[in-house]
Amino acid sequence: MSVHTVAVSRRGEDRLRSGHPWVYKSDVGEVRASGGDVVRVIGPRGRPISQALYSDRSEIALRQVTRSTDPLDSTFWKTRLQDAIRFRASLDIDATAYRLVHGEADRLPSLVVDRYGDYLVVQALSQGIDKLLPDITRLLVELTSPTGILARNDPRVRLLEGLDRRVEVLHGSVPDTIEVREGQVTYAVDPYRGQKTGLFLDQRENRVAAARYARGKLLDAFSYHGGFALALAPTCDEVLAIDISEDAVARIRLNAERNGLANVQARAMNVFDELRELERRGERFDTIVLDPPAFAKSKAAVNKALSGYKEINLRALKLLSPGGFLVTCSCSYNVSEAAFADVLASAAVDAHAEVAVVEKRMQGRDHPVLMTVPETYYLKCFILRKLN
Ligand code: SAH
Repeated sequence: MSVHTVAVSRRGEDRLRSGHPWVYKSDVGEVRASGGDVVRVIGPRGRPISQALYSDRSEIALRQVTRSTDPLDSTFWKTRLQDAIRFRASLDIDATAYRLVHGEADRLPSLVVDRYGDYLVVQALSQGIDKLLPDITRLLVELTSPTGILARNDPRVRLLEGLDRRVEVLHGSVPDTIEVREGQVTYAVDPYRGQKTGLFLDQRENRVAAARYARGKLLDAFSYHGGFALALAPTCDEVLAIDISEDAVARIRLNAERNGLANVQARAMNVFDELRELERRGERFDTIVLDPPAFAKSKAAVNKALSGYKEINLRALKLLSPGGFLVTCSCSYNVSEAAFADVLASAAVDAHAEVAVVEKRMQGRDHPVLMTVPETYYLKCFILRKLN
């Protein structure tokens, strides 16, 4: 078998050696491979360094999969998947929906596999993983015996890889609605059309954490299908969930009804406008959750994003009653924890609020962060208590 190779510059080699699995196009030299191949990475002095997935279109040309330079044997991908799946099994997750494979952090770069009950939803986000998808599907069937596997290969990033956007069943059959449970809450999930792969699974543990503080009147802003609203409703008197999407709000109502949570009201509103309106009316809440979409989708958007975060957090702190809790999140990987903390501090100052940090959290344990790749620490969640 001929070995595919891709040479990298000194800078590319240094990057890999520093623990970051990506090499950019600008650090790639001679290529003896096609897009999607598993390649041997060759250093500037001709020495083999590691093996990686190669993309001939993306700015991220190489995604390292192993530091070994021996040809991958037939069990390589199976062992990687098995390790990811066993780790999730060890977490004792109180839910039937969670992430089984989280890309780079499972040394399966650009592969996402989420479990929804008896079904799996996968995303192949690079040429390499896309090419391996038939093998990965076969291995997932062997390892987890799902009733069906759906490929949600519609994220835009696939276009950067020169791949098409498509949603297709890869194995068995997958219904339009899958019922899953998270803690005490059951949801009807649409794996074909829901955001991400159907639910925001990365917030599961933050919902559990937030439920320990939630009480009184709750405002769940950017609620989507009611993730926080439904998990927190049992300990609260009244819940107001808002989301800009009418579809999402219809789902919140259905989910509230299906769970017998009569204290949940849902409204289709723009959070920025509604926070201002609630303030004008002099409303007060004892618990507020802010879980906006990623405001900074690129480095260039960071400043604007920070002012968006500042505005909603400032208004939320004003709406909070003394002793109340604010659960506030940012899922922009371009906004660091320190930058987000600065925004929260300046919002507190401007709101004349004395604020204590009760917990600092991140995405759930089934979405781990790769130590040497700051980009994988995307979700920050602070639980704050307003003292005055
Ligand atoms: N908290 C949710 C996930 C929220 S995702 C959970 O735990 O599952 C972000 C949500 O914000 C999306 O549902 C999107 O429709 C909504 N959204 C985006 N911009 C908005 C705005 N300006 N006002 C209200 N909702 C908005």
